[in-house]
This record gives sequence, structure tokens and C-alpha cells, in this order.
Amino acid sequence: MSQSMNSVPADAALRLLKEGNQRFVQGLRSVESMVRSRDLIELAEKGQKPFAIVLACADSRVPTEILFDRGPGDIFVCRVAGNVATPAIMGSMEFAAEQFGSALLVVMGHTRCGAIKAALSMKQQPDGLSPNLKMVVDEIEPAARLGREFGEFTLENVDRTAWLNVQHTMDTIRKKSPVLASLIADRKLTMVGALCNIENGSVRFE
Ligand SMILES: [Zn+2]
Repeated sequence: MSQSMNSVPADAALRLLKEGNQRFVQGLRSVESMVRSRDLIELAEKGQKPFAIVLACADSRVPTEILFDRGPGDIFVCRVAGNVATPAIMGSMEFAAEQFGSALLVVMGHTRCGAIKAALSMKQQPDGLSPNLKMVVDEIEPAARLGREFGEFTLENVDRTAWLNVQHTMDTIRKKSPVLASLIADRKLTMVGALCNIENGSVRFE
């Protein structure tokens, strides 16, 4: 399946996300994002053309569209605890990249992430997790292994591990999704990492 075209190139998509996040942090909202609900009929009839794909944590404190002050049809959001690259998540992102031609893929972690904390402490309590949750935590383990080397279990080290986990997720995407990896290699898709500070909603891009 060949990639369809999207009218928003990666650098412009990144700028839209950064500008939207600046508005959110300042407590502002664009009129455009507030009135987007009136576009729903057009989106339903003509289909979506999201300008970016964002993989984020399921944590309720990182509501992706709100953080970037965007509306329906703008961002193809995949959320799972710990923003890990599971087969279903990668399949979803492959679908978006090929069907809608979105040129930007953002992997976004966040500070004080509970999934990261669970992964960091799993060595102490390996039996405390359900099998399904353990699968999530296992995906974070490569980052957690490095994170434990930081020493103390402090908030700062949790956040440093969250950033390592973003890097690990991007590595997993490159290794385990030939579809996304080839779009990236062909410069049809740009992948960037990001970390959201949940104390004020600001997103730092790599
Ligand atoms: Zn989280």
C-alpha cells in the first residue's frame, strides 16, 4: 500500500503542535479549536486527514488534543500506559501513516508516570501485577533497567527513566515496524520524542 499525501509537512505539523501547546500552557484556546465541532459533518463525509500521529500514555493528565489545543480530525492519537509500542499500537500508527499520509509521528512520555514507577519497582514486587499489566511493564523494562542505575527512586529519576522509555519506544518502532521504518528512511515520516511536564502541561520536544 503506498502512502497517501498529506498537505501538512512534518516541520509545519511540529510547529502547529508547539504553538498549540504554548497556548495551552498560557491558559488560552484558539477560536479554531473551540469551533471545530462544527466541522464534524465535513470530517464524517470527506474523511480524516490528521496532520500528526501521537503515541502517548493513557494517563488522564496528558489529554493529547487538549494539550496541543487541537480539535477533531487534527491528530491521530494512540494512547497506552507507558506509551509503549505494542503490535496493536504499531499497526494503528502504520494505518494512519499510510492511509492519511501524516508526516509527523510523536512519541510522548510524561513526568511522574505511574507505568514507569511500576516498571522501576517491578524487581521488588514481581508478583504484584496482573498478567496484562505485566505485559505493559515488560515493554518498559529495557528503560527501567537503565533507570535503576540512576540509584535512588526519586521523582527526578522516574522522569529521566520516562525519557529513556521514549527513546526505547522509538527504537522499537524502528526495529519492529518495517512499514514505519521505511517511511522514516524515505523521509516521508519524521519521528520525534517528547516529554510532557504534567505540572504545567508543557511539552518538550527532543
Ligand atoms: Zn504514564
